[in-house]
Amino acid sequence: MAIQNNRLTAEQYEQNFSDIHPPFETHNAALVEANRCLFCYDAPCTKSCPTSINIPKFIKQITTENIKGSAHTIFQSNIMGAGCSKVCPVEKLCEGSCVYNLMDEPAIPIAKLQRYSTEKALANNWQLFERKKSTGKKVAIVGAGPAGLSCAHVLAREGVDVTIYEKESKGGGLMTYGIAAYKVTPQFCEDEVNYIVGIGGIEIKYNQELGKDLPAGRQGITLAKLQKNYDSVYLAIGVGLARQLAIPGEDLEGVEDAIKFIYEIRNTKYEKVNVGDKVAVIGMGMTAIDAATQAKRLGANEVTMVYRRTENEKPCTDVELDIAKLDGCNIIWLAAPKEIKGHGKVEQLVCSKMQLGEPDASGRRSPVDTGETFTLNVDMVIKAAGQIPYEALIKDCALNNNHGKLIIDANQSTNIKGVFAGGDAVNGGKEVVDAVQAGKDGAKAILNYIMPQMHE
Ligand SMILES: Cc1cc2nc3c(=O)[nH]c(=O)nc-3n(C[C@H](O)[C@H](O)[C@H](O)COP(=O)(O)OP(=O)(O)OC[C@H]3O[C@@H](n4cnc5c(N)ncnc54)[C@H](O)[C@@H]3O)c2cc1C
Ligand code: SF4
Repeated sequence: MAIQNNRLTAEQYEQNFSDIHPPFETHNAALVEANRCLFCYDAPCTKSCPTSINIPKFIKQITTENIKGSAHTIFQSNIMGAGCSKVCPVEKLCEGSCVYNLMDEPAIPIAKLQRYSTEKALANNWQLFERKKSTGKKVAIVGAGPAGLSCAHVLAREGVDVTIYEKESKGGGLMTYGIAAYKVTPQFCEDEVNYIVGIGGIEIKYNQELGKDLPAGRQGITLAKLQKNYDSVYLAIGVGLARQLAIPGEDLEGVEDAIKFIYEIRNTKYEKVNVGDKVAVIGMGMTAIDAATQAKRLGANEVTMVYRRTENEKPCTDVELDIAKLDGCNIIWLAAPKEIKGHGKVEQLVCSKMQLGEPDASGRRSPVDTGETFTLNVDMVIKAAGQIPYEALIKDCALNNNHGKLIIDANQSTNIKGVFAGGDAVNGGKEVVDAVQAGKDGAKAILNYIMPQMHE
């Protein structure tokens, strides 16, 4: 039951990892859908978009062949509108709120229309915003993920010089390193980052990690240094560490963190990624779904997802669960990992059978162990039980936090004056679109903070 790779042909890998939501094939197809929009007053789709994109407006602009204007409307609210059109769980956001749902008719394919306009803007490098004259102000951002990039773009537009310090060798954060390859390709992520910095005034310094020294004993970046050299600092470091299961056998060969597994898929040729024959995935969030479906698409024979609660409490959406089911993944509800067994390598996963307990004061029923167990024969276990923040780093920086999640006030400020924060590092892990909005909020707060100095 050794872990194998190179299971499929190049064509099969290509097919398995091709775009899960293909774009409109023709302009007319986009027009037909755009013309179905009722351009609702007080549009519920806009209200349910965390970045408040004026959806009826951008759709109207498509119907009048004003594609540039349409892309401008989207980017004005969400500079990662192209990426979001591919990765947003729209079924619980804009499309889930479209009034057509109430008429039992298909919702307007808002994401597909958004992709239609924004992809054209990226392909043609339409820079739709002009950078204001330089203010001479400098802001350091740590992390080139959605929150950092969105903050940078707003600041750059306002004439602030931005330097982003990023520990990886590419920008985009989890868009580039975490989200399933069949949603966004590495090339798309690179194009999107290039488009965002294309406005000017944004420099990304790669392979620079806050709190870590550079090779050859050179001192790396510290918060104190950034505070000294810049007018303000924005921390957008996300949450990067996989939560451990804390059960026996976790260190056996073949036990893998979902983030590490997905990172490898994003950065290695598919045929070089090791995947088991019988894989168990622990968890039922977006990360678990992405890990399970990609394990299947890499050629695993059997993938079983194990979740300790019931379907009603699952953190992923119905659409995501359907993707896993359509890919042939097995689902076991009310099961918690108890022990991983093997001789050097994983051979079995022992799970406790759970049941829902009595409701607590909030009405929530937590799973309780029934005392019974069952065993799965597996050669790989992928842990996707959530991510935890960089607690040690946050504490080293003397930043107020809640178990590593940064605490900010209503002005997006941390406890340290001039140091702001947002995105997953603050909310503990939501969606790309939430991080983009956090970046906008952070930029607004920073502008308020540095502007009075400009008038001194
Ligand atoms: C597997 C997985 C799948 C997901 N799928 C989806 C999806 O389909 N749709 C969706 O909307 N959301 C999805 N998400 C969530 C989404 O990716 C995040 O909410 C979003 O990327 C958060 O943006 P951020 O900028 O706050 O953090 P991140 O994207 O994590 O970016 C943080 C950046 O900071 C850098 N960094 C960290 N520490 C340091 C340091 N010390 N010094 C310098 N740089 C540092 C990191 O390298 C990274 O580039 C998924 C998440 C995961 C893990
Ligand atoms: S709710 Fe649907 S129909 Fe109404 S504006 Fe939004 S997309 Fe158009």
